[in-house]
Amino acid sequence: MNSNPDVKLKQNESEKEIAEKPLIDIHGKRKDGRESGDLRKIKIEVGVLHRAEGSCYLEWGGNKVMAAVYGPREAVPRHTQNPLRAIVNARYNMAAFSVDERKRPGPDRRSQEISKVISEALGHVILLERFPRASIDVSIEILDAEAGTRCAGLTAAAVALVDAGIPMKDIPVACAAGKIKDPKQNEIIVLDLGKEEDNFGDADLPVAISPRTGEILLLQMDGHLTQEEFEKALDLAIKGCHTVSELQKKAIIEKYGSMPEAK
Ligand code: UDP
Repeated sequence: MNSNPDVKLKQNESEKEIAEKPLIDIHGKRKDGRESGDLRKIKIEVGVLHRAEGSCYLEWGGNKVMAAVYGPREAVPRHTQNPLRAIVNARYNMAAFSVDERKRPGPDRRSQEISKVISEALGHVILLERFPRASIDVSIEILDAEAGTRCAGLTAAAVALVDAGIPMKDIPVACAAGKIKDPKQNEIIVLDLGKEEDNFGDADLPVAISPRTGEILLLQMDGHLTQEEFEKALDLAIKGCHTVSELQKKAIIEKYGSMPEAK
């Protein structure tokens, strides 16, 4: 740490300057230097936990996510069992320390909603009929949050499922696009919103796909988009999904030497 007060003042000034910058300038540069179609930096590690059947640690910009898979195992309580197929229980949890203002621990409406949409998205690609009466439990722990955590969580969960050897038609992947304004109040569609863009932007469109078939597994919208903007944002989010999908595959190949066959 620099104790010189002049240097400290300069640092504070530059922080203020950053805070006053528009979300995107007239040259199309975002606050963090990204262009409209750029993703934040992503790092994926496969099989980081010893006791889970499968796991993945993922960093996506300032998000840090751990996903772990248990099962397939007998679903309990028994009334939750489906005699024809397995059930998927994804549990998204945001750690109390993961956000600026301490989050009250435990489930809330938001985490229940995210758990539900992620469970459904994963359930569409897992070969559930292979495991009647079983449950496949997926824990998604958000350790650090900086917007886009549901996309980061689903993307990590998909890799953890591969690590657990769960048979799937494809490896699902998620990415968001959104809308922010430049200083002339033009609405710009951008990929992968950062924290301030999410807080002060005009719309956010998280999307999950099955990259092999292009099937949409999750699509949510926060804010307003015209039909034209929606189509542009959806196209951009899908392009982002394909880029992230390559990173998932690269991480799996790094760990296992090859990709598992699609079932
Ligand atoms: N957030 C927060 N406290 C909360 C919930 C969310 O600070 O209780 C922040 C967090 O950084 C999160 C962002 O708001 O990533 C956006 O949340 P949103 O509900 O849009 O979901 P996400 O974009 O993370 O999927």
